[in-house]
Amino acid sequence: MIRKLQAIIRGWYYYLFTDSKALIEERVDMCKQCPISKRSNGSYSGWCRTANGGCGCHLKAKSAHEDSSCEFGVWGKGFTSIENLNELIANGHG
Ligand code: SF4
Repeated sequence: MIRKLQAIIRGWYYYLFTDSKALIEERVDMCKQCPISKRSNGSYSGWCRTANGGCGCHLKAKSAHEDSSCEFGVWGKGFTSIENLNELIANGHG
């Protein structure tokens, strides 16, 4: 719980006060395709939605720190996995 809170604070700090734009853009591009980020009408919410099985984080803040990672293995430090994203899409998560 404390670790998650620290990660949230760190993410918002990096999002607001550092030059993490390129990293955020690269990761959020994948989140935009992910069914977990979608509202019931199919639009992108900007959040990893708990209603769809996600962590509940704001995606720009979550993705801003290099050490952060997607719980479903779509992106993380030094990797992206289009296969994992495609699996989420195929399973219709959300
Ligand atoms: S599950 Fe991963 S890819 Fe999907 S919205 Fe959450 S962080 Fe992004």
